[in-house]
Amino acid sequence: MSESAQRGGALFPTYARYPIALVKGDGSWLWDEQGNKYLDFMCGIAVTNLGHAPAQVKEALVKQLDELWHVSNLFHIPNQEDAARLLTENSCADAVFFCNSGAEANEAAIKLARRYHQKVLENGRYEIITLTNSFHGRTLATLTATGQDKVKEGFGPLPEGFRYVPLHDQAALEAAVNEHTAAIMLETVQAEGGVYSVQQEYLEFVRELCDKHGVLLIIDEIQTGMGRTGKLFSFEHYGVEPDIFTLAKGLGSGFPVGAMLAKEKLRDAFAPGSHGSTFGGTPIATAAVKATVETIVREKVAEQAKQAGAYLTGKLKETLAGNPFVKEIRGKGLIIGIECVQPVSDIVTEARNRGLLVVTAGPNVIRLLPSLIITNEEIDHGVQILATLLAEQAASTVKS
Ligand SMILES: *Cc1c(COP(=O)(O)O)cnc(C)c1O
Repeated sequence: MSESAQRGGALFPTYARYPIALVKGDGSWLWDEQGNKYLDFMCGIAVTNLGHAPAQVKEALVKQLDELWHVSNLFHIPNQEDAARLLTENSCADAVFFCNSGAEANEAAIKLARRYHQKVLENGRYEIITLTNSFHGRTLATLTATGQDKVKEGFGPLPEGFRYVPLHDQAALEAAVNEHTAAIMLETVQAEGGVYSVQQEYLEFVRELCDKHGVLLIIDEIQTGMGRTGKLFSFEHYGVEPDIFTLAKGLGSGFPVGAMLAKEKLRDAFAPGSHGSTFGGTPIATAAVKATVETIVREKVAEQAKQAGAYLTGKLKETLAGNPFVKEIRGKGLIIGIECVQPVSDIVTEARNRGLLVVTAGPNVIRLLPSLIITNEEIDHGVQILATLLAEQAASTVKS
């Protein structure tokens, strides 16, 4: 074994890690090893939507830990059946497949779309159209689906059957659809890609185009789902229903779990043996899902996110008005991007030094993903740190 002097030297260097380790979390707050306290405006990248260690989910997990951890999917799993029923009762979907991550959920969606065309409709279609600047995951199929070259470098040859068109270019999309097209897959807010929301008119156009050509619409709700945008699922804002949608991130409040959901007509495209996962939907994972969905629905958390998002956006617009370093503030609910005129990585670092955790979305965009239970006082606190920092940045940029 070779020695590495660096902390975490026995790990692959797949992440540019911040020089702190967080060891405790409660609601919207985190503490590091030294006892420094941080206001969390990133939530493990849109995962801890109910805050850290939410009591309702913790209780369900502790209870399940006492009873049973894991059984094979060769058995009925009551929590999994309940979680699926809750998700279908609260969405346009009729069937759920549980897996362990976002990439796996999208992988399942791609497989289901292809299998539906090839085995149910027997038309041989396989192609998936996605958008440039999208993000759909890191497995070979989902990184291929992702419309960004940086995630593909050095991983070829990539799977066939993907095509890309720019967001909001209706003509390009129409031209890309052909006799091989199985599905169009998109996020309603391109989150990793810079916080760009899909326009109403475009999504309606996509839905109509899909219907016209017998193409499935897959919506990737992995970052936007579970209440974050102000609705349980972000497509609800549009009055447009996908045929398939995917969840992960906020689905288990921090317990790793993903899900692929689809309409009734797609149910029998999967048969016993055609897809599966050892860990998909274990009693523990689906205890977390059940408690998370129940809490979000019962406590109207999406509505809270809508109000908190409006308050946070309003405060940002007020305090950053006229700041020449800031180009645009945009987003939906509690997924907000502050686009700046220059790279923002130093600002993210300095915000952390001042006790506020935020993340980027591309080089020039600060992405804010607070918990959905954030209070107005906490928002005021975070905005004050950001506004001060961005005012200093504007002053020094103008000088230099
Ligand atoms: C995070 C994310 C994924 C990938 O999820 P993993 O759990 O990291 O595999 C896919 N799509 C979107 C929109 C995401 O935000």
